[in-house]
Amino acid sequence: MRDGRDYYEILGVSRNASQEEIKKAFWELAKKWHPDRVPPEKKKEAEEKFKEINEAYQVLSDPEKRKIYDMYGREGLRAGGVGADFGAQQYDFTTTSFEDFINQVFGKDFMGGFSEFFEDIFGTRSSKRARGKKKIFEERRAILIELPLREVYSGRDVEREIDVELRKECKKCGGMGQVEVAVCKRCGGKGMVGFSKGFFTFSQTCPQCRGYGKEMKPCSKCSGRGFESEYEKIKLRIPRGTREGDVITYGDIDFVVKVIPDPRFTIQGDDLISEIQVDSLSAILGDEVEFVLPDGSGLRVKIPEGTDSGLVLRLKDAGLPRKDGTRGNLYLTVKVVSPKNLSREEKEMLREVKARLERKKYH
Ligand SMILES: [Zn+2]
Ligand SMILES: [Zn+2]
Repeated sequence: MRDGRDYYEILGVSRNASQEEIKKAFWELAKKWHPDRVPPEKKKEAEEKFKEINEAYQVLSDPEKRKIYDMYGREGLRAGGVGADFGAQQYDFTTTSFEDFINQVFGKDFMGGFSEFFEDIFGTRSSKRARGKKKIFEERRAILIELPLREVYSGRDVEREIDVELRKECKKCGGMGQVEVAVCKRCGGKGMVGFSKGFFTFSQTCPQCRGYGKEMKPCSKCSGRGFESEYEKIKLRIPRGTREGDVITYGDIDFVVKVIPDPRFTIQGDDLISEIQVDSLSAILGDEVEFVLPDGSGLRVKIPEGTDSGLVLRLKDAGLPRKDGTRGNLYLTVKVVSPKNLSREEKEMLREVKARLERKKYH
């Protein structure tokens, strides 16, 4: 796919555009740029344009993908594996007509509020058209799941109770969203109709049922959705070693992990990067300083004698847990801070030390 352009910009909608506005914008652009609908010399340009428009729509029309895109941009969709399917949604323009394309993309909304658009272009009621054989309920969904760094750090599997919409195939229509009501009157169920030209008789795909031989109508049990929803509390296990962008699969749902950052830490692969404050006397003499880890536990950190600000200490195996139970490293940059509120006596003692050190310098 092409690089960088913003999906909202491509569709010409604002960042808080409603689903309806996004659909409308896409529809207008699709009509304008589908390669079927441009003069031959503009076909190449139209194909490029159309792919771009289509990709933007695939993401922004899906609330979960849109949420991920809003937060992380295209990278997020790639990292989470969420975008994996929109790349696959390529159209071969030599065989995919505009009408077929519309069926594929808007298939799920066929019976809904979008039918006026079909009338607009095809001059027919869309509900009479066969939708094709794809089951709707098999489409995968992505849900973002937030995990605080504290839990990632713990090194244990995390169990989360989540309310999810579980989709069960509609028994009545077998997940198709449509049911057969009658044999097609035009072709009598054969899917083909004959016509004569001079002495010859030819047959062609029935224009009424598009070859299915059946008259279809939206399933009343599932309102044409192909599935029925049940809301259930599930226990989702997030295994040790989970990282930002990892995907945990549960039925038809992909839970995409987002790690809630802790401002004290930077994550770099399996390693954690942070800062440790050391008072100047401990830095001079060497000491052991307590450092608070992301899970709230304390770690005794050895500060070597004569430590300077900016020194990086490597604490082996104190980083993020991996799947195999080992850990990355923790890197702490030392920041030397001066003791405050010293008493007059303490200052006097330090001055004496300072004077001695200065004398040492010149002798
Ligand atoms: Zn149904
Ligand atoms: Zn027919």
